This record gives sequence, structure tokens and C-alpha cells, in this order.
Amino acid sequence: MKKVSIVVPCYNEEATIKEFHKAITSLWNESEIKNNFSSEIIFIDDGSSDNTYENILSLSESDDCVRYTSFSRNFGKEAAIFCGLKQATGDAVIVMDADLQHPPIAILQMLSKWQEGYEIVEGIKSYRGKESHSHGFMAELFYKIMSGMIGFDMSGSSDYKLMDRKVVDTLNSLSERTTFFRALSYWVGYKSTSVEYEVGDRIAGKSKWSGASLFKYALMNITSFTYSPLYLIGLIGAVIMLIGLGLGIDAVITYVKGIAMEGYPSLVILITLATGAIMLSLGIIAVYIARMYNEIKNRPRYIVENQK
Ligand code: UDP
Ligand code: MG
Repeated sequence: MKKVSIVVPCYNEEATIKEFHKAITSLWNESEIKNNFSSEIIFIDDGSSDNTYENILSLSESDDCVRYTSFSRNFGKEAAIFCGLKQATGDAVIVMDADLQHPPIAILQMLSKWQEGYEIVEGIKSYRGKESHSHGFMAELFYKIMSGMIGFDMSGSSDYKLMDRKVVDTLNSLSERTTFFRALSYWVGYKSTSVEYEVGDRIAGKSKWSGASLFKYALMNITSFTYSPLYLIGLIGAVIMLIGLGLGIDAVITYVKGIAMEGYPSLVILITLATGAIMLSLGIIAVYIARMYNEIKNRPRYIVENQK
């Protein structure tokens, strides 16, 4: 019998853990998958400050399928997912959110695709759930950029996916510490397919994302997959230099002809434009340097406090 691991990153999910466990258990017990697959549920408590850990602990006492890791503090969802992948022992691993926004029923389709021989089954959002227009627009823009950069269509993609053991071993062998799980599963290749699902409402608790944290997330993910922003800096520099050259020639000619204009406004515009471009460029370079520094420090991605 093949084993399926379900990896669940949890941060302040005291209100959802038990519901989640119930949903997965009843899916297993009420469908025929229980005849073909055994399961383990791995909860990663990402440094929650509520009773998430206590709830996980009590589930693990009553259900042998439940395993867990708890972090010493909040290290972020990516770290939690990668910790879960390391801990998982299944022949396939499914990553899903604790709040049941990833409908468990899609697991049935994922498993049947896996049985057909697919090594990665991406969960694709056919309906994004209740989110604002601006959020939807920004998400679409971000995935357009990411898709262009990694050369795969990532629209509607999510962290809800199934991966064969082979894929999990490959992901576990990556040594980088700033990862973007959602895109790495495309980047590694392998035989992949997708199933569609509708994002449900969060059953309880609230989303951990703010506008600022989403911006940082997007910035980190773009810089971990492409050097394009650095090339863009070079391009902007070249364009500004050409404009400067033209203006310089113009200044000399008008000076020689004795018809040079009062130059204050153009000077102000040029100085502010150039300074702005330089500061922006430095900022972009700084992001890459900070990322390199972070990799070189080689600190662990997360610190485990308890594990079973
Ligand atoms: N999560 C986590 N660490 C964090 C933030 C979130 O492990 O620092 C987990 C969270 O508990 C949930 C999943 O990641 O299981 C998705 O989080 P959330 O529902 O807040 O995101 P949204 O669905 O709003 O994108
Ligand atoms: Mg959610």
C-alpha cells in the first residue's frame, strides 16, 4: 500500500486545526482511497502564539497518523512547507493550507492523476474566492511576470499540490534558503499536470497576509528567479546617458551660437530624474546583495522545538 503525506503549514490556526483533521479523516474513511493509500498528516506549527500547538498535540495523541514539528518562532510559510517536505515519509506528498480554503475533495483527483503516472499535480484556482479586485489584479500581474521569467504558465497557481517522492527528494536537495515553493515545482520539471479547484472561504480565523507582506513576498520571489531587474538598471542607465549626451550637445551648440536659455528648470528636472534613477538602481542591487548575504550567513531556515 502506498503512503501519502499531507503537509500542513499552520500559523495561529487554533480555530481550524481540528476541523481540518476531521475533513481529511472523513475523506479518507468515506472514499475508496483508504483501500489503496495509507496517510500521515504532518502539521508544522510555525511559531504560533495561540493554542495551535496544543491542538496539534492532542490530535497526535488520539490519531497515530498525525505527526508534527513546531518551530521556536514564526519562520514563515515557505520554511514551514520545506520542513514538512523534509519530514514527510510518503510516496507522495500533498501540501495544503490549514484553513480548508484548499478543498480536500481535490485530493481524489490528485491521487488519480498520480496513479496515471504524473509526478506533479498542480492545484490551479479556477475561482479565486472572495478577494478584492485590486488584489486579484496584482496577483494576476505578478503571475504574468513570474510565468514570463520561468517560462511556464503559472496563472492561478497555488501551494496546493501533490508531488511524487522523486520530486520531494529533488526539492529537499536544494540548498538555497529563500525559496518560492509555488514556482520551484514548475522549475524542477518532471511530468506534471493540474487539477482545478475553487478557493473556499476560510473556515475560521483570519488571513496572515497584509499588503506590505505581499509586496515583500513578490519582490523576494521575483529576485529569486530572475536577474532581469539588474539588466533593466543597465538599460535605464544607457537610455539616460543617451538623453544626457543629446542635451549636452544641444547645450554646447546653443552656447556657441550665443542663444543659450536660462537652464534652471531643465537642470532641476535632470538632477531629480538622474538621482531617482540612481537611488532606484541602488535599491534593486541592494535587494540582491541582501539576498546573497542571507545565503552566505548559512543560518538554518527554521529552528525546531518539538517534533514527532
Ligand atoms: N502560514 C504559515 N506561516 C505564516 C503564515 C501563514 O504557516 O507565517 C500558513 C497558514 O496557517 C495557512 C497557510 O499558511 O495554513 C495560508 O495562510 P493564509 O490562510 O493566511 O493565507 P491566504 O489563504 O490568505 O493566502
Ligand atoms: Mg487561507
